[in-house]
Amino acid sequence: MQASTADLGLDWKHGFATLGPDFFTELRPTPLPDPYWVGTSDGVARLIGLDVRQLRSDEALQAFTGNQLPAGARPLASVYSGHQFGIWAGQLGDGRAILLGETTCGHEVQLKGAGRTPYSRMGDGRAVLRSSIREFLCSEAMHALGVHTSRALCITGSPAPVRREEVETAAVVTRVAQSFIRFGHFEHFAASGQHAQLRALADYVIDRYYPQCRDDSHPYAALLQAVSERTARLMAQWQAVGFCHGVMNTDNMSILGLTIDYGPFQFLDAFVPGHVCNHSDTQGRYAYNRQPNVAYWNLHCLAQALLPLIGDDEQARAALEPYKTLFPAEFMARMRAKLGLAEARDGDGVLIDGILRLLAQGSVDYTIFWRRLSHAVGSGDFEPVRDLFADRAAFDAWLLSYSELLVLSGRALAANLMLKTNPKFVLRNHLGEQAIRAAKLGDFGELQTLQRLLENPFDEHPGHDAYAAFPPDWASSIEISCSS
Ligand code: AMP
Ligand code: MG
Repeated sequence: MQASTADLGLDWKHGFATLGPDFFTELRPTPLPDPYWVGTSDGVARLIGLDVRQLRSDEALQAFTGNQLPAGARPLASVYSGHQFGIWAGQLGDGRAILLGETTCGHEVQLKGAGRTPYSRMGDGRAVLRSSIREFLCSEAMHALGVHTSRALCITGSPAPVRREEVETAAVVTRVAQSFIRFGHFEHFAASGQHAQLRALADYVIDRYYPQCRDDSHPYAALLQAVSERTARLMAQWQAVGFCHGVMNTDNMSILGLTIDYGPFQFLDAFVPGHVCNHSDTQGRYAYNRQPNVAYWNLHCLAQALLPLIGDDEQARAALEPYKTLFPAEFMARMRAKLGLAEARDGDGVLIDGILRLLAQGSVDYTIFWRRLSHAVGSGDFEPVRDLFADRAAFDAWLLSYSELLVLSGRALAANLMLKTNPKFVLRNHLGEQAIRAAKLGDFGELQTLQRLLENPFDEHPGHDAYAAFPPDWASSIEISCSS
């Protein structure tokens, strides 16, 4: 296949590459035959300075499949390590992601599924259409929900076979983030005793993304604290929207506090706090209600890795302390917004605990509950919300105390806030599955419809209520594993 370059009119700089060869291997993507478009995001094109007409071009199709190199790109795969399911896994790295570089607007562009790298281990360097559609849709859905995340520019597919539990076909997701640096990058250089590289990495991350830490008398401890704060905010965002990541290994933790590496993730249907979305997670390590604690555990791994730079155990510990108060504070703030309460008041903590307990007791659909409550606050008719609870008396008692706080916020104001906070549409597993089934047959209409809804999840989208309805019975039998 051609090894030529494609002129996409993108301007590049290569921040990560300045770190030098200890951090990566330069290599080209491996081409795929007969590429076709699966999905594109105009918003992300604009974000990276790519003309949206250019995004539709055949050159872009070839480039984002890895068949041509965008002019000015400098492709590489980076090395990192990490803890997987709580156990040190040693060296990992971009096993199937290839960084094309960073555009001058400061966004790194990666091709995921673009072929083998020196870090592929036993893997084939490919991604299948199924998991690529899930990553693409969820990145854009999360962004629209206000959750910090990597973005997705496009998916291209190829008929090339890829062997998983069964034979599937290949796809490439082009994903975008300010940086794809992970906790695992730091762990890698700490564990291998490469402290000069560890320092260079920390300095790079501070200079580029946390410049305020440079002025601190202990810049590396300040970095650790800043990362832990962003992580606390991210966990509060996940918990509030009912998102389960599924594989919170330290190599999947972003140093910028972004959601990255979408795999067996799931938005909760019924509110089951102990829900485990990853079929491979037999211990339930990454259950929905464990995510905030696991993130804290992962931050300890990062602290351990930064210790040679921080120098003092006590300082590292102190840098992690704020997480313990910031996460609950951020979580409360998000939940208050879901309830339409504009500010903190006495009794709101009890109210939030109370509703979460009731939702769990009744296994109530999480997204539908919040959306119905938002409408009910506006209309004054709470019957559709009551209908969700078997224990009506318990709900009525809760509603009584909620109404007292609502009066203080003002109902109209509250309803307005709630309809912008509680989405009508989330990427439920079965919706993704329907889009995948159609796409496998060459029909991308379902994917486009879903993308449109998820890009504006707070709008009503008349005629699309089916996408906001309870999941069908078969949804609970969908098994999503690490296989992707
Ligand atoms: P994940 O759990 O998807 O984050 O993957 C863990 C590690 O395995 C990462 O370093 C990936 O790059 C690598 N990996 C996963 N799938 C493949 C594959 N099909 N080919 C090569 N490497 C892979
Ligand atoms: Mg990963």
